[in-house]
Amino acid sequence: MSSASIHDEIHGGNAAACLEVAVALPVWGTFTYRTHTGLLSSAVPGRRVLVPFGTRRVTGYVLGPAKAVPANELKAILDVLDDEPLFTADLIPFFRWIADYYIYPIGEVIRGALPGGLNLYEFNQYAITEKACQLPDTTDLSELEKAVLDCLREGACRLKDLSTHLERPVPGRLLQAMERCGWVQRKKTLLGGRTRPKQEKLVHLLHRSIPGERMTPRRQQILSYLEHHGDTPLHTLRRVVPRATAIVGGMASRGFVDVRESVAYRDPFGDPILPEQAPELTREQRQALDGIHQAGARGFAPILLEGVTGSGKTEIYLHLVADAIARQKTALVLVPEIALISQMERRFRARFGEKVAVLHSGLSAGERLDQWMRILHRETPIVIGARSAIFAPQRNVGLIVVDEEHDPSYKQDTHLRYNARDLAVVRAKHSRCAVILGSATPSVQTYHNAQTGRFVHIEMTRRVTPQPLPEVDIVDLSPVRSERGLRKHLTPELITALGQTLERGEQALLFLNRRGYANYPHCTSCGEPVRCRNCSITLTYHRNANAYRCHYCGHSRAANQPCENCGAATLWHFGFGTEKLEEAVERLFPAARIARMDRDTTRRKGSLLRILKNLQQGAIDILIGTQMVAKGHDFPNITLVGIVCADTALNLPDFRSSERTFQLLAQVAGRAGRGERPGRVILQTYTPGHFTITAARKQAFHAFYEKEIQHRRSLGYPPYSRMVQLLVSGKNRGATRHFAETLGVAGRDWLQNDRAWKNQITLLGPVEAALHQVAGRFRWQLLLKGTQPSTLNRFTRELLQAVGPPRGPEAVKVIIDVDPQAMM
Ligand SMILES: [Zn+2]
Ligand SMILES: [Zn+2]
Repeated sequence: MSSASIHDEIHGGNAAACLEVAVALPVWGTFTYRTHTGLLSSAVPGRRVLVPFGTRRVTGYVLGPAKAVPANELKAILDVLDDEPLFTADLIPFFRWIADYYIYPIGEVIRGALPGGLNLYEFNQYAITEKACQLPDTTDLSELEKAVLDCLREGACRLKDLSTHLERPVPGRLLQAMERCGWVQRKKTLLGGRTRPKQEKLVHLLHRSIPGERMTPRRQQILSYLEHHGDTPLHTLRRVVPRATAIVGGMASRGFVDVRESVAYRDPFGDPILPEQAPELTREQRQALDGIHQAGARGFAPILLEGVTGSGKTEIYLHLVADAIARQKTALVLVPEIALISQMERRFRARFGEKVAVLHSGLSAGERLDQWMRILHRETPIVIGARSAIFAPQRNVGLIVVDEEHDPSYKQDTHLRYNARDLAVVRAKHSRCAVILGSATPSVQTYHNAQTGRFVHIEMTRRVTPQPLPEVDIVDLSPVRSERGLRKHLTPELITALGQTLERGEQALLFLNRRGYANYPHCTSCGEPVRCRNCSITLTYHRNANAYRCHYCGHSRAANQPCENCGAATLWHFGFGTEKLEEAVERLFPAARIARMDRDTTRRKGSLLRILKNLQQGAIDILIGTQMVAKGHDFPNITLVGIVCADTALNLPDFRSSERTFQLLAQVAGRAGRGERPGRVILQTYTPGHFTITAARKQAFHAFYEKEIQHRRSLGYPPYSRMVQLLVSGKNRGATRHFAETLGVAGRDWLQNDRAWKNQITLLGPVEAALHQVAGRFRWQLLLKGTQPSTLNRFTRELLQAVGPPRGPEAVKVIIDVDPQAMM
């Protein structure tokens, strides 16, 4: 709702000016405040306000007008904190939906959605008031007061700048006194991180020849360069033609060329991104586009775009985004990983230039705020981002794309536990537009929706490059189980294939989804494993750091300490991680250039891109990596993929472990042979007969799905049910268990005594979580299963309300996880 209509509603209705405000605190519901007329015009939806709450003053977000209540019962808004709204009014119903569905305080939903660090970029500005402008000349003002008011007449400014302008210190006390007199008013203003993109001069050809103008050899040279290369940055021309700046200047004044300031975009590797035209689509791509257009013609349409790895889904996205923009709409593209965002950004910049904004956690707080403001000011109709970009303040959304929709990183696992893929469908529904969920290995949930007709299903079965999908050879690890050293993990087949690949001068990728050196270090004397002191798991030995580390809480312990159980000095580094694999491969192929890509080697900003660049430039022969390498990267020169152990995730106590394993294996296999030469995959496994492995071998998603869905149906797991997980955690073992049991008893009681609940909801647990201690907190789980999300939601709310919050000094916490992904 616009500010004008609130104004009308309030004044036209002759009601008190009441506003609905969400406060940034963990409290349920929204609150009504009144505003005095001075603030009324500025308290519009999307702005932050300062409100009294209990005995505190807290930040709130204006959601809109509230039903009028007798004004004397209401507290008043103290101040409006922003000059302009921070989010658009059309996001408000979306925020309400999220708060309701995920059972999370709406003020916290909004706070999490807004770019972090807002307060870092908040400044007090002073402005002159109407009253001060009309002060009679006879008013008794000090010289400094006069100077301040004169200065402010030319525009609002910060205290610091006032002192600079007046060339003497201006005390804050003076401004506060003047504020009390009503001569100046204080406003909070946001300044971004000043990350404007770099500008450069772009030379554009206007006329090949101009009558009466001489054609010198240098001019000739510049004209033909422009003819061949199109618009060219001036600094590029300077490299090609001596004295280009002066010559181009002369040519511009005579009308040969036109020089304009343009934003210089660089790809993540630092190379300039040059504008490009859309390539010719394949027949299959055209059919896919037609299908999407038909489905999306009627407004809201959720569409699964299932295309094998390398089938050119990104080109489809580019076309759809171009269509949306042609219809004066905006488009939102979600990508699961920062490294992939750079890739996606490059292709979108080449096509759409400055129409693109990016939002992800790799940006500094200032950069993020800057991007947010550009989107809000409608400077960029296209937004590309990771999961949190689902909250981008775009108006008039005409298309949402979720690339690699199966990726688990769309689910946030802290604070508000939302799934950005699911929210994309909700936001598309609110915006009445199409949402494209793209994947080569769709999630079982999404595919089930397509099968049952809730989603439109569009398929692409062929790669755009001439290469077919790679051959996958399955190699059984069981015969080498009793070998020692690296022969236990690298079969002769894989070693031979690696050697051949190196001989041909091609690149290989080795995938092992376990970082560190050894994940099961234990004592040679008493056999006791090295455990984390905060979590219920063993530590992983990291050779480079010479330390044991916990992958859950970050606890680190120096490696030269004796066994904590018996004091023996030697520990055995059992288990196999990427560091040990790297060492083994170095020993086998001493001449090969080997790089490792996992969370340990990519922690520093830019390090991941450096690895990708080296790979692209052929400076790496063998890349070793964890699941990071499985995520949709385009590695054109990799012809051999070795999956070192396919089973690492297969036996986790989680009903999605088969699905996750299939997706990982099929995605990793899909990295092979994307360029000119065919690819080959060697998949090592202890369970060659497992249906997940045999299906992944052929990237046979459908075969995998048929089997998996039967299993889910028989156990009543999603998509045949919905789940809510209640995770109870606390530092005191007894208190945690006690609260979990209290919840369990109360829940069972309800289910027994109320037939309506009983028929619709199953309560499992409480049980100790598979990871029963993390970061020093004990963990218990309860699982609620049902078919109706609304019933589950109501039951969860009422149960928690009836039991009440955990009491006592032990600080037990209950986390509500709606549609949980990880069951550990
Ligand atoms: Zn020991
Ligand atoms: Zn730990």
